[in-house]
Amino acid sequence: MRNYKNITLGVIGLLVLTGILVLDEPSHEGVLTDAGKRYHVYLNWMYGVFAGYILILAILFVRQTRHRLHNESEMRMLSSIAEHATDIIYITDNRGVIEYVNPGFERATGYSRHEAIGKTPRLVKSGKHSDDFYRGLWSSVLRGREFRELFVNRRKDGSLFYEEKTITPILDKDKKVTQFISTGKDVSERVLGQEKINYLAHFDTLTELPNRVLFRRSLNEALARTRRSEKLLALMFLDLDNFKRINDSLGHDVGDALLKVVAERLKSCIRETDSVSRLGGDEFTVILENINHVNNAIAIAQKLVHAIVQPFQIGPHTLHVSISIGITLYPLDDAEADLLIKNADMAMYHAKELGRNGFQFYSAELTTRVNEHMRLEGELRQALEREEFVLHYQPIVDLKTGLVKSAEALLRWQHPERGLVPPNDFIPVLEESGLIMPVTEWVLNKSIQQMRDATPKGVSIPGLAVNITAGCFRGNGITKCTGNVLASFDGDPGGLTLEITESVLMQDTQHVSVLMHNLKDLGIKIALDDFGTGQSSLSHLRNFPIDVVKIDRAFVREIPDNKNDVAMVAAIIAMSHGLGKQVVAEGVETEAQLELLRDLGCDSIQGFLYSRPVPIEQMAALIGQRLQPGGQPVSASAGNPRQTATL
Ligand code: C2E
Ligand code: MG
Ligand code: MG
Repeated sequence: MRNYKNITLGVIGLLVLTGILVLDEPSHEGVLTDAGKRYHVYLNWMYGVFAGYILILAILFVRQTRHRLHNESEMRMLSSIAEHATDIIYITDNRGVIEYVNPGFERATGYSRHEAIGKTPRLVKSGKHSDDFYRGLWSSVLRGREFRELFVNRRKDGSLFYEEKTITPILDKDKKVTQFISTGKDVSERVLGQEKINYLAHFDTLTELPNRVLFRRSLNEALARTRRSEKLLALMFLDLDNFKRINDSLGHDVGDALLKVVAERLKSCIRETDSVSRLGGDEFTVILENINHVNNAIAIAQKLVHAIVQPFQIGPHTLHVSISIGITLYPLDDAEADLLIKNADMAMYHAKELGRNGFQFYSAELTTRVNEHMRLEGELRQALEREEFVLHYQPIVDLKTGLVKSAEALLRWQHPERGLVPPNDFIPVLEESGLIMPVTEWVLNKSIQQMRDATPKGVSIPGLAVNITAGCFRGNGITKCTGNVLASFDGDPGGLTLEITESVLMQDTQHVSVLMHNLKDLGIKIALDDFGTGQSSLSHLRNFPIDVVKIDRAFVREIPDNKNDVAMVAAIIAMSHGLGKQVVAEGVETEAQLELLRDLGCDSIQGFLYSRPVPIEQMAALIGQRLQPGGQPVSASAGNPRQTATL
């Protein structure tokens, strides 16, 4: 444009100059007047100015033409370079629409120029880069900066290639991006070669499991994570029991094939987040993270042992193999990776000594405890089937009237050899083994049935309290189970109270609150058992639908002598009443305790002073009675309370 303007101006200048030259003809000289002469001088002067102007225009014209010719040859040179380069080059406008691709691009991607122009580089997007990657790219190039990265791109035929690429923004004189030039190299061979080297350094080629090097790294990383999580980590060493014999007698090919299947079976027993590695030969390791309880490790170890003991079909051979496992726990056994490895190894040898096809913990004490636990769990399963559980009942007495207001059902296990086993010895095992829900259902059914059967005609059925542990509040098992049980008793809640401890409230509070409201909808009351122990929080009393507070025995034991405990009990009673809740004091053994509790306005008491927990036959005699300390029903002369008891 500018060139044309200059040329036009030049032509006009030339025309004017020609006119002047014509007017300035020397033949006119003799006839000129003075004014004519002045005009002549003026014209000469103008001539000089125009001549200068024309000269400048001529110089500009020549320079620009030269410059253009130079640019054109530069462009020709550049495009010839781009056209002949082995690099992948393309140019896009500032919105990323492709304007030019070189043959290198066509060769690397499989897309022709025709197919690529007008599209965006998404054409070769592999989906292997995160959104963050692209955000970084755009933020850099839009600010006028180069972006250099290793890209994974997809060819037209679907295969991937690695491109080491630089994207350069082209800026105009106002520093605005007008275009982007992408230049890159296909480095797939180099990258894949490196990946292969990495793979060989960290994986076992036979089983494709992580090798010793990667195992060590994974262990360190897992330990660091566990340190922050306050959970347990289990490290297991596994060794096939009769691998050498198979390898020697059937040959290495069979041995190798067996190891491959063993690796697959081991992997199938663990979660995605855990890892199995092969240290070499027939030695494997398993790292289990996020373990809440040693039982989780036991469950996996049992699964592993079971998986390997199933016969293997390798070609024509049916092989029987077993595995020995050594287990160590972080942080219980040791804190260092090296020490944990040694522990697990030692435990594994111990497992071999003890007859193979099993697992051993590093600490002998733990192994004994685990064995005991497993035996107990098995026995408890049978106890439920064989109806070895029994219920005892402890009356809860109304302090104002002295009447047996309700009874707490307390579970016992009538063990064939050990006799009557108290609940604290086996309820934790029921909780961990998942047996707590069926046992709780049994307790609910049995206690409602027994109390109804034991209540004489014409006497109101007394209230019944049943203990529910935290394990019942996972999922919605407890509401379903209670609903079913009540349905079998015509839906009548019959003064049923469920006793829960504060540990229940510490779980997922939202969930527990919903369950508690569902239970209340069934017409059931809720008592907070053992109040004052554990993580007591006054807000629990306000936030959950609790009807009754049971003051723990620990506060009652030393009253009235221990003034601090007296103050605590007085405060709990006052606060509970203030919130509209009933108060029961547990573990009342003396008259002095009774009197103080009465003075403090406690509603009911439960304890050996009135009665120990007793079998249903003895409980039957207490239903509807007015009790006196010592547990004797008040004599008939005191009226017939059975008829008047409000239960
Ligand atoms: P808990 O619910 O606090 O039950 C009261 C415990 O205190 C009972 O122990 C009872 O025998 C004892 N006790 C009552 N009065 C006195 C007293 O004056 N002095 C003393 N020293 N102790 C007294 P038990 O029967 O051994 O039960 C212990 C715990 O086992 C119960 O504590 C309860 O948490 C749990 N439990 C009992 N039965 C069941 C059940 O069916 N299901 C569940 N989940 N837990 C149960
Ligand atoms: Mg209780
Ligand atoms: Mg209690």
